[in-house]
Amino acid sequence: MSVTLDSPLGALVGDRSQKAFQKAFGYTTVADLLGHYPRRYATRGELTSIAEIPPGEHATLVAEIVSVSTRSMRQKRGSVLEVAITDGTGLVTLTFFNQAWRQKDLREGARGIFAGKVGLYRGARQLAHPDYELFEDDPSEQAQEEWAKKPIPLYPSTSSLASWQIAKAIGVVLDVLDVSGEPVPDAIRETESLASLAWSLEHIHRPKEQDQWQKARDSLRFQEALVLQTALAVRRAEQKNVESVARTPGADTNAFLAGLPFELTPDQSSVINEIHEDMSSPHPMTRLIQGEVGSGKTVVAACAMVTVAQTGGQTALLAPTEVLATQHFRSLVKTLGPDMTARLNPVLLTGSLPAAVKKKALLAAASGASHLIIGTHALLSDAVSFADLGLVVIDEQHRFGVDQRETLRQKGRHPHLLVLTATPIPRTVAMTVFGDLDVSTIATMPEGRSPITSHVVALADHPSWMTRVWQRVAEEVENGRQAFVVAPAISPSVREEEHEEQEISPEEPEPRALATVEETLPLLQAVPELQSARMEALHGRMPTDEKDEVMSRFGAGQCDVLVATTVIEVGIDVPNASIMVILDADRFGMSQLHQLRGRVGRGEHPGTCLLVTHAEQGTLARARVESVASTLDGFELAAKDVELRSEGDVLGVRQSGVRSRLKLLRVTRDGDIIDKAKGYADEIVSADPTLAGHKALVFEIARHLDEDSEDYLEKT
Ligand code: ADP
Ligand code: MG
Repeated sequence: MSVTLDSPLGALVGDRSQKAFQKAFGYTTVADLLGHYPRRYATRGELTSIAEIPPGEHATLVAEIVSVSTRSMRQKRGSVLEVAITDGTGLVTLTFFNQAWRQKDLREGARGIFAGKVGLYRGARQLAHPDYELFEDDPSEQAQEEWAKKPIPLYPSTSSLASWQIAKAIGVVLDVLDVSGEPVPDAIRETESLASLAWSLEHIHRPKEQDQWQKARDSLRFQEALVLQTALAVRRAEQKNVESVARTPGADTNAFLAGLPFELTPDQSSVINEIHEDMSSPHPMTRLIQGEVGSGKTVVAACAMVTVAQTGGQTALLAPTEVLATQHFRSLVKTLGPDMTARLNPVLLTGSLPAAVKKKALLAAASGASHLIIGTHALLSDAVSFADLGLVVIDEQHRFGVDQRETLRQKGRHPHLLVLTATPIPRTVAMTVFGDLDVSTIATMPEGRSPITSHVVALADHPSWMTRVWQRVAEEVENGRQAFVVAPAISPSVREEEHEEQEISPEEPEPRALATVEETLPLLQAVPELQSARMEALHGRMPTDEKDEVMSRFGAGQCDVLVATTVIEVGIDVPNASIMVILDADRFGMSQLHQLRGRVGRGEHPGTCLLVTHAEQGTLARARVESVASTLDGFELAAKDVELRSEGDVLGVRQSGVRSRLKLLRVTRDGDIIDKAKGYADEIVSADPTLAGHKALVFEIARHLDEDSEDYLEKT
């Protein structure tokens, strides 16, 4: 019988095991099982001696069985098998409930390795239901020596499938496996000194010494990177074959650019050029623009919209909140000027519009009367259709899933796509997760921006500093400036749900109540220096028109202090705002703090950001806040954020799927490998676009895509 990677598991490991693997991990094929790599390897050096094992910890022991006995349970029916083992330093009892059949393996004098959690039963240490593996009888000197060097794979296991059971099943499969092809082409394997797939699978699971599993792991990790990058390269190549309407700049584009009240920054100009180049080809553009808050992404997108409109097409601009959609709408109207506004007829489409207004907007989109349709999630509804959707713009992309992005794109015939993000994405993450998007960066800020100074206000060390914070706010207000005060919660009972990624630092077990908008406002009103200041609250629970009114009053300078949740996080532009106080700053993500403070210092006045925290010195929470205060570089912060988070957080769970597909590759650590793999992948795909000569690679790509298709990452 020839067993290959795509063989079903059942016949090999038996129906019962097969069911157990399917239930526990969803595995059905040989490839699935062999992709279950050890979590780590124990070596003899790491083994604990019985004398040392502390209760409550997991222990791996090498020992000899000294006695075996069965007794009935005292309270209920059934039997307990008790096995005493020793390693010469002490004695420990293994207990198995209702598993008397194990007696035939577990005999006096047998030696083996035993692993489990150490418990205490009537004062004596015991391992209940440990994993174990017995050694062959009487190992020779040499066998013992080999065994001493031999790493013991420890697998991610479940209560129904122990590590040793997994190892056993994998062993059965490896014994008969016939690996026919090599996913990584020979030439690349040679250049990179990688082992073959067959060798790697054998040695990641059954290494005889440490060097072997390391080499196996490196080879399989590279293979993973190559599979991922080739899948992305294929997708990029496919995009190039899709037909789309070319949109070339013309008179309107020029008029729009000439009418701008400012000079474009060099980065803005070059990104506009890239966009025009993309859109002038009859294939859809798929471009991500990343740039700091305030770097001027919107005007770049607006230019693309004008270009599309002048060729008769429509643009749908998707924004994450009503406040932001409304602001985009207003500023577009302003930037376009009366003449172009009349011709392009921008409309706003949000969930809270009165039915009649909504109907009019829907009609304008469907008939082609409007060339710019700006809205929130409401745009994704089935009721929305377009006459000629030429461009989809997604603002603040991390707020949206790939599905939502695609839903909107489906409403046109391969429209061009522009996604905007202010959350800097580490390069390797961009390459891995947004690998099918071209990335443009606006790295420089428009001139005339004043720098932001950030300070940590550590209330744990200086409780009295809060008074000083409010005095600083009052000073700004006296000078005619405006202030933001940000709190993580709306009221004592309601948190701001609109923003899911407010994180709770794991080490803090919800100690104090969080600062809330509803409680902070009266607190500020009671500050003597702020008696004459006009203050308002803003949060996601308010009706949309009320939110809009508050925002526009603040924008117009009719309100001095805005006490808000993170609804102000994205896109809000009030150049006169010069100070931001963030309460319980440790409750926000680092990138989020950075974006929040980007709301001040947008005009001629220098910005100040006060990060108020109760976190104690030396805690991770405090370190994160201090990191934010120490740099204005969003990319550096994103990188630090990545360091302080787990891989899963970086890739996001909701949208990613990537996490479950990547077993050995870590996008935050393996940048070099990803780089190399991308280069090779591009070569492979350009030489052989259908991958006809790469059967084994195609097999791995299909596996990779089947598990979770079409998904990328979300922001940090
Ligand atoms: P973001 O990248 O955060 O979306 P915006 O596009 O909202 O930034 O731009 C922030 C502000 O900067 C807006 O008021 C915009 O009009 C202004 N702006 C954009 N580009 C420039 C520029 N080149 N020079 C001066 N101001 C600019
Ligand atoms: Mg913006």
